Amino acid sequence: MAMNVQQKLEILADAAKYDASCASSGSKRAGNGKGVGHTDGMGICHSYTPDGRCVSLLKILLTNYCTYDCVFCVNRVSSDIRRARFSVDEVVGLTLDFYKRNYIEGLFLSSGIVQSADYTMEQMIEVARKLREVHSFGGYIHLKTIAGCSEALIARAGVFADRLSANIELPTQRDLVQLAPEKKTSVIEATMGQIHAKTVESEEERKASRLAASKKPAKFAAAGQSTQMVVGATAASDRAILSTATHLYGQYKLRRVYYTGFSPFPEADVRLPLKATPLVREHRLYQSDWLMRFYGFEASELTSEANPSLSLTEDPKMSWAKAHPEFFPVDVNAAPKEALLRVPGIGYKNVERILSIRRYHRLVLEDLKKLHVRVKQGLPYLVTSDYLPSTHILKAAEPVAAQMDLFAPVSALTGSL
Ligand code: SF4
Repeated sequence: MAMNVQQKLEILADAAKYDASCASSGSKRAGNGKGVGHTDGMGICHSYTPDGRCVSLLKILLTNYCTYDCVFCVNRVSSDIRRARFSVDEVVGLTLDFYKRNYIEGLFLSSGIVQSADYTMEQMIEVARKLREVHSFGGYIHLKTIAGCSEALIARAGVFADRLSANIELPTQRDLVQLAPEKKTSVIEATMGQIHAKTVESEEERKASRLAASKKPAKFAAAGQSTQMVVGATAASDRAILSTATHLYGQYKLRRVYYTGFSPFPEADVRLPLKATPLVREHRLYQSDWLMRFYGFEASELTSEANPSLSLTEDPKMSWAKAHPEFFPVDVNAAPKEALLRVPGIGYKNVERILSIRRYHRLVLEDLKKLHVRVKQGLPYLVTSDYLPSTHILKAAEPVAAQMDLFAPVSALTGSL
């Protein structure tokens, strides 16, 4: 019996929830309880636009039919699940309907691979094209790209989509051989490279154009590209995961790498773990990712060859601080930004505030409390005008020298300590 759009939506919104490359899923919005669109939050996720706004997206697959057999994926060809497939017009209609009802501000569209990478990508692009060109849809569109599709299709996708993403799937090529034999790191990275190249080309074109800003050619995928990595389906260590993330950020200028802990599902392959990846592992990876992108940490500093896993019981910044007593204490009145960023309990915004305040005022411990620095965490690692941690009193000269070596020039601790 043919399925109606509502039945397809139930299947294809549920199938899309495993893709984490937009920020979150499953939020609820009040509806009137009638007709298409009353999803009780089903298929709605959140993402961020280039100007930092949080938007609700309809998150669905075009189809959960797939010719690939990625062992970790519930949509793989050998999986015994209910299948469905939207037509291009059905996705366009749903998006417009949800948009008009104010349930969503955009679309996140992914798909299983049917016929070929090019064919599938063409269908997804057609959804975005119709929304933009036929219906003048101005909402946010995130298109998942099918790795290995033609460069011309990538170029076209970025014209209509705000964000593009190509999933790296697993941390290493060895993991792909084990669990996703039809996929290759080199092919996925080639797609990422094409997205990056088109982005650079579009920026250069816009810079070179003498037209007024509003008339310049549109930005290619203005919200950049992201990727997703499944964590815990193989034995790949946190060290390997962070090293891959560093490579992708550096090489293809990704906006985000999303880490998704593996969850077992019914009748899963025996090669998969029986237990779900602890959520806290996913959390530690996100914390490390943040430290690498905004705090100046290298992936190689957060784990070691001897201990390639992140601690599950404390955050990676604290672990690093405990392992590097020679670096501390850091003088909040004199240390450079890079050193302040490494003090546990002091976040990025507070480092900015401290740098600004200390130009005209020497900070005391009370000032840090007023800034909501997590003082209890930071006490063993910092120095203020009225505070020096007791364990470091005798060694005060030593860490300053270490800081100077790393971040010269830096002024010495003052006599007021
Ligand atoms: S190609 Fe994508 S949808 Fe298909 S089995 Fe692999 S991960 Fe799942």
